[in-house]
Amino acid sequence: MTETVKKQVKSSEMDPNFKYEISKMHGGAKLMRCFQCGTCTSDCPIAKFSDTYRPRQIIRMAQLGLKDRVLNSDTLWLCAACFTCTDRCPQDVEVASVIRVLRNLAAERGCIPQVFKEEASCILDTGYAYRIPESRIKKRETLGLPPLPKGNAESIRKSLRGVNLLKHVEKKED
Ligand code: SF4
Ligand code: SF4
Repeated sequence: MTETVKKQVKSSEMDPNFKYEISKMHGGAKLMRCFQCGTCTSDCPIAKFSDTYRPRQIIRMAQLGLKDRVLNSDTLWLCAACFTCTDRCPQDVEVASVIRVLRNLAAERGCIPQVFKEEASCILDTGYAYRIPESRIKKRETLGLPPLPKGNAESIRKSLRGVNLLKHVEKKED
């Protein structure tokens, strides 16, 4: 996976149908309303702490059809889904939802950062987002604390059956 970068755009990279693909998905309908004012980036709490994460840029890449570049980008996954951008966009673009749509498309092609694959795999295995170390469990016992409730991994697996994501996270190695 790569960073979203300010490198030259080649016409061969552009997929003119990409914007229509996004527009048909829930939350993506207003993508083409963006006029690049930059409000989303200036108000985004993640952009304040990142040199590379720029929601305005992601929206522009989506409009231009830079499909591979945007879907292969690690920065896509930095969004905290706080919806500040959506609330403040003067054009009513559902920026956070467009980013979710892009993540879903990226996930379908297996472009998921390793850290999220591991987290998803842990949820599927244990029902917890975090693998609780044996030492922690033992420590609880020595302190007289009750055992932690068992996560219901089976029920999570059942709900996610048929979701493409599973085949990517169940694969332990890339
Ligand atoms: S705030 Fe809205 S119109 Fe402005 S750059 Fe972001 S998405 Fe585009
Ligand atoms: S939803 Fe994502 S892109 Fe929008 S302001 Fe929050 S972190 Fe930034």
